[in-house]
This record gives sequence, structure tokens and C-alpha cells, in this order.
Amino acid sequence: MEHSARFDAGSLTKDYPRPPGIPENALLSAVCGHEICVRTGCDPTILMPVSRVAMESLDNIQYLGNLGTVPCYVLEITGSVELPVGFVLSSVRDLDGKIPDEELAIAGLAVQIADYNRTTRFCGKCGTRTAPSQTERAKICLSCHYMTYARLSPAIIVLVRKEENILLVHGKQAPAGRFSLVAGFVEPGETIEHAVHREVREEAGIEILNVRYLASEPWPFPNSLMIGFVADYAGGILTPDGIEIESAGWFDRANLPNFPPRISLTYALIDRWISGNLPEH
Ligand SMILES: [Zn+2]
Repeated sequence: MEHSARFDAGSLTKDYPRPPGIPENALLSAVCGHEICVRTGCDPTILMPVSRVAMESLDNIQYLGNLGTVPCYVLEITGSVELPVGFVLSSVRDLDGKIPDEELAIAGLAVQIADYNRTTRFCGKCGTRTAPSQTERAKICLSCHYMTYARLSPAIIVLVRKEENILLVHGKQAPAGRFSLVAGFVEPGETIEHAVHREVREEAGIEILNVRYLASEPWPFPNSLMIGFVADYAGGILTPDGIEIESAGWFDRANLPNFPPRISLTYALIDRWISGNLPEH
């Protein structure tokens, strides 16, 4: 399925090995916690020339990839840092439609890699400091050489059809009135197809068939990879689990409740179903 994943940072190429230090032509994005620094005004951007940024320590800088021939990095800053004039901190999701799409994807990657850097400063095996690998996206322990890669959490999302209806569920954590597709993390020891069947059974109490892959999307909050499927109802009575899921129902096109915004894979899957662009049963 064609799907323009909002956080697909595939336009960045990786150029390894990385020389130590930051090249003079580099562009930097600055991340503070889960927020990113954006220059407001008529030409908003999250990327600034490296020369404009005072860097105290290379520990807080990570390579993101190359935009054309220009290497891009993320710099982690603390709340006490004074931002350059014209820059403010913003959540990445709030930047959708306000900065170029390519930069939105880079912003997502920047907060994800900053989080990865923050949580892997020390070796999980022996507790010694780590350093970035110069040959791949990884951290190496300076003592025992244990490698730590960026964490990626695969999660499935599935649009279940029953005649002219789809299954939507309201999670306990969701805003009032907001419904979504069944979704959940893949567990160790299971295939993603198994995870689809299990999540539908757990959240809605029904069985499905014809599970087919449709699209995927990086979701960098903080490190998910959403894997989208379509499936057909096979049997059972809707029974929300009452723990994660408060209510579940079948909805036709004329009676859809409030569902997640355009930026999400959920929206893309429902939108394809509305316009009749999903595979036949
Ligand atoms: Zn170690």
C-alpha cells in the first residue's frame, strides 16, 4: 500500500565511517527532553548551521545522516540553555504542516536518537561509559566493548472488517470519544502475524482471518515501528477486555466516531478503507 509515512526519514543517507568531530558544513537540530528547537518566522526550520551553535561537549551530539551531501546531527540541550533569538521549543507532533515534510521526519528521528543517546550513556553490562561507534549507529562500551543499538519496538495495528463495518476500540487512556484500531506491541517469541491475532483476541474477544500486511510507519515517540494490517472478521462476540479497552464496536462509513489525526498510520488505514482502496476480502 502506498502510504506517505510522516516519520520516514529515508531521505537521510548514512555515511560511515564517521570521522571524529563535527564537519564545518554540518546542520544541527537541538533537542531538549522530548521537544525540538524550531526557528519560527516566515521560513520555519529545525536545522541550523553548526557555526551558530556553541558546543560544550561532543557527548551530547549524535550523527543522524546526510541530507544530500550535508551531514546532520542532533544536539541534546538542557532547559537552562538560552536559545538563539527566534528559536522556540516545540513538540514534534505540533510541527506537522508547519515545517517541510522532510524536516518533520528528521525532527522525529532527532528526538528518537537523543532519547537513545540519553539512555545508553553507560554500558548495560558493566556500567562503564559508552562512545558512539564510528562505523554504524551503535554505542560501544569503552571497557568491555559491548555494543548497544538503538532500541526499536515493533507494534502491530490492524483494521478488521465485517461486511461494511470496521472494528474500532476506545482505550482507557484515550481522550473521551476517541476511537482507534486494535494495536499493540509484538512480544518476544511471536511472529507479527501471531501478534495481530493475539491483540484482536485480547482487546476485542474475536477471531480474524485473511491477515494481510499493508504499510509500516516509524513512530518515534519514543521508538516504535508501527506495522499495519487488514483482516476480516471470522467469529466471536465483541468483548472488550475491560483493562486496556473500555468499549469496542462495529462502525460503518456513515457513522464513524472521532479517530486519530492525519499524522497517524491509523488515519491512513481508515482513510484507505473509506475510499475503497483496501484489498478485497
Ligand atoms: Zn561494558
